Order: sequence, then structure tokens, then C-alpha cells
Amino acid sequence: MSEQKDLDALRHSTSHVMAEAVLSMFPEAKLGIGPPIEDGFYYDFDLGQEEDGSLITFTAEDLGEIEARMRDSIEAHKPFVRREISQEEAEEIFADQPYKLELIEDMEEGEVISIYSHDGFTDLCKGPHVDNTGQISPNAFKLLSIAGAYWRGDEQRPMLQRIYGTVWPTQEELEAYLQRLEEIEKRDHRRLGRELDLFSTHEESGAGLIHWHPKAGLVRTIIEDFWRQEHYKAGYEIVYSPHIGKASLWQTSGHLHFYQENMYSPMDIEGQEYFIKPMNCPFHIMIYKTRTRSYRELPLRLAELGTVYRYERSGVLHGLMRVRGFTQDDAHIICRPDQIEDEILGCLDLTSHILGSFGFRDYEIALSVRDPEHKEKYIGDDAMWEKAEGSLVKALERRNLPHKRMEGEAVFYGPKIDVHIKDALGRLWQCTTIQFDFNVPERFDMTYVGSDGREHRPYMVHRTLLGSLERFFGVLIEHYSGAFPVWLAPVQARLIPIADRHNDYAYRLRDELKEAGLRVEVDDSDERMQAKIRQAQLEKIPYMLVMGDREVAEETVSLRLRTEEDLGPRSVAEFVKMAQQAIAEKRDL
Ligand SMILES: [Zn+2]
Ligand SMILES: [Zn+2]
Repeated sequence: MSEQKDLDALRHSTSHVMAEAVLSMFPEAKLGIGPPIEDGFYYDFDLGQEEDGSLITFTAEDLGEIEARMRDSIEAHKPFVRREISQEEAEEIFADQPYKLELIEDMEEGEVISIYSHDGFTDLCKGPHVDNTGQISPNAFKLLSIAGAYWRGDEQRPMLQRIYGTVWPTQEELEAYLQRLEEIEKRDHRRLGRELDLFSTHEESGAGLIHWHPKAGLVRTIIEDFWRQEHYKAGYEIVYSPHIGKASLWQTSGHLHFYQENMYSPMDIEGQEYFIKPMNCPFHIMIYKTRTRSYRELPLRLAELGTVYRYERSGVLHGLMRVRGFTQDDAHIICRPDQIEDEILGCLDLTSHILGSFGFRDYEIALSVRDPEHKEKYIGDDAMWEKAEGSLVKALERRNLPHKRMEGEAVFYGPKIDVHIKDALGRLWQCTTIQFDFNVPERFDMTYVGSDGREHRPYMVHRTLLGSLERFFGVLIEHYSGAFPVWLAPVQARLIPIADRHNDYAYRLRDELKEAGLRVEVDDSDERMQAKIRQAQLEKIPYMLVMGDREVAEETVSLRLRTEEDLGPRSVAEFVKMAQQAIAEKRDL
């Protein structure tokens, strides 16, 4: 068995042991399911209702008791025994377990029904399991949290009580995992977003709608300015497009056919239906189609920081990562077939330049292509697909970018490249997508006049580099744990006068540093110096410039970094040079 399969068997076995312990404490509990998941397992229970009708839930104390009972079961080394049974027998065994009965009922005719028993506990289960409970280390598992979860994820069905746990082969691995969890928790962008006063969402304005506070607004402006500047350099033209469009436009583009469940309900304007945009593409095509295009004008690269709205279920909304309205750093490249290779190469180069500037240099790249067995599922002819796929592969090879080829993963209208960036904790985040589209140019009858004087169909590529500004900002916060590199830091330096009599020097310096293009603030509060330093560190401000009698007399500053490093006295000019260099090189400090 593979290592992952062994881990899954261990985790799934531990979930059985947990269910056994829960049943011993709550004999009336009804069992949901208890699968292994990434890094652990869960099990869902229906504990029934209190007398007032409210759901009975687990408490934190229950978790401790459940863990203790699990240890007893582990120490008893009870074997897991598999048995295949008939449907009638299954219905008998699980007669007072309604959720299990539902699962049995939903099984295919002729499907093998198996149960696993250990000790007195029996579960409807396909397995596999470890041989006996003693193979679970009593010091390598932990119950982590309690959550509500609808049976089968369906809001119309009962709310069950879920216990999440984790288990590892050894105690060391458990401890390493718990430490990683703590690190993830510390970096959680929702928590840092609050602590650093970056963004908020409000029940009052609607779930999944992001409010960028001044400091985040500043970071976003810097990101956008950089993005625009690099796009102009790379030969893109920047456009702005409407936020709503007529139903007929979304009909032509195919969105109402393929994408309507992600779109919000239409609004009526003078008897016409309009939809708020889930994508920018149709508007860019309108711009392309305002006149006859000659082959000489191509490639056309239209870019937009376009704000779109897409429906997401409230249950899946998550901070900045999963939202209902976001700004895509979108672009559409419209070109001739002979230009496509260079265009893809250009996209990849811009991707690595821009992502690299934000500190992401480690990628995993997926190339999604057709299912070779089912070419009929895709539109566009063989020659187009081969040329498009070929251009993607060649560009990746020319830049020595390893990639995973995913057959059958392409959408029906074209192949694509997805770039996942690796953050400081090694987690992958999808940002960039370079997506061919053989569908939309047909639907909108896009053409250009070739050198032969005849009309031809151009290639079209949708591409986004950062993905969504909201999500990318969330990734940035977690990657840097809120300590942004100097060029992105909302406040780059805090001036800390030790006593009131040093304030005037601090104000003068502030003006001087602002003049040099730095974002600085004076902390002229009544706090003591140590408290001011601590506050600046909490706010993750890169530089602290402390000034007392000596600094005022010598016209210097005492420089500290947010890493707690004390660099001692510096001339103001020296500090300015250092900060400007860090900004120019997009360094952390
Ligand atoms: Zn099982
Ligand atoms: Zn598009």
C-alpha cells in the first residue's frame, strides 16, 4: 500500500474509534459518516435535541473525555473485522441508525455491502482499516474542533455535529502538524485583516463583499499601479468596461447557457433584462468589433482590472479567498495563428516577472488538454487544438518550466495553463490562468482581414495573472504574515521621538522623508519608547527610527527593524538610501 493509503486507513480507523467513544457517552447518537480527510478525519453525529428543541452539541470538555475513551479502546488492541452482508441484514443491524439506512437504501443494486467491527462498534464501511486499534498510537492523535455540518451538505437536511480530529503515525509527526496549524492560524488573513485594520465584511452590506480599509486601499493602489505599468511595458492596452450588460449579450457569449448558475438575477431597465457581469470578455469583444481589424493591428492585448460578481453559496464564502464580488486582473489577447507562440511566451514571461516581484518564485504548473479518447466533446477542429496545445507546451519548454499534463481536464472550448504559486508554508494557490477560447470568436463572429484580403478568424486567449485582487491580497497577507515587503508596506517607517522635546525634530524628519517618497508617520503619543516600538512591531512596520537627545544633536536616527534587529545610529541620508534600495529591489527589508 502507498503511504497515503496507509495514512487514510489509519485516519479512517481512528474515526471509527472516535465514533465508538461518542456512542459510549451518547448512546442515543445517530451516526452520519466518518471519512479520512487531508491531514485527519471527521465524524458526523446527530445528538438529538434538548427539551427546548435546540440541537444538542458537543462541548470542549466532551472532546477531552472522548479522547480518554479512545485511548482505552486503543490500549485494548481490538481487531477490525470485515464482513460482507446482505441488504436485509444491513437494515437489521442499522435499524435505529436512520442515516446509515439512507446510505444502504441509496446503494446500487448488487453493490457489495460490507461492515467493519471492532470491540462492540460496527460501522457500514468499505474500509480499508488497520488490523487492530493498537496500531493507532495513543500519543499521535488529537481531536481538534467541533462544527455544524448539514447531512450530505444539504441545507434542507438536518444539521449534524461534526468532530474533526487528526492522527499521525508518530507523536513527532503530530506535534509538527500541530505547530504548522498554529502557524497557519497565526497567519490567517481574516485575523490579520482585523488586527492590521486592512479589510472587513459586513452582515449589513452582504456576505462575501469586501470593504478595503485605507491601509489595504493603499497596498491595492500600489499593486494596481505596478500592474498597469508592467502591462503597458508588455504591449497591453488598458480598457474599462461596463458593469452590467443586456441579456442578449450574455446570450451571444454563451454565459446564460453555460454559466447562469454563477450569475445574479437580472434587473429590468426600460423593459430590457440586464445582468451584472460575471466576466469582462464580451465587453472586450465589443471593443474589438467596433471596426474591421486588419492583420497588421494584431496582436491586440486588451487588459482591464475588471470587477465582476459571481454567485457563491454563503456556506463556502471565506474571507478574501472566496467572495461574491472581486476584481480580476483580466486580459484578452486576440491574435493571428502565426503569433500565438510568441503571445503565450509573453504571457509566461509577464507572469513570472509579476509573481516574482511579489516574492513568489516557486510554481506548480498544470497544462489542461483534451481527453484524447473523446475529442467529440470539444469544439474547434484538431488543427486548432494541436496548434494551441503546441504553443503552450513550447512556451513552457522554452522557459524550462516543468508542468503536469492533465488529459481530459481542458474545458470544451480550449486548452489552458494554470499556475499555482507556493507560499511561505508550502501551500499552493492558483493565480494565473492562460485559457484558449475557440468558442467565443465563433459566437461573436470575430474576424480580421488577412494579407490575402480575406476574412479570417483570430485566436483568442483569456488570461489573468494574479487571478483576483481580493484573493491575491489574502495570499499576500498569509505569505508575509502581514509583514509586507517595504515597497508594499502601507507605512514604511515610524518615527519614534523618546520625549516631547524631540517631537519637532521628528516632524522635520517626517517632512524630509516624505519628500524622498517614503511613507512615514510620527508616534507623538505619551507612551514610553519601548511601548511605541512594540506598537510599531505589532503593526509590522518595516523601519522604526528612534530619536533622543543624541540623535537630535547629531542629526541622526537610531534604526530598528521590525525583526527586532537594532542597527544603531544612521545618518538620515543613509537611511533614505537603504529604504529606497529595498523598495527598488522589492525586498522584504
Ligand atoms: Zn470505516
Ligand atoms: Zn475572458
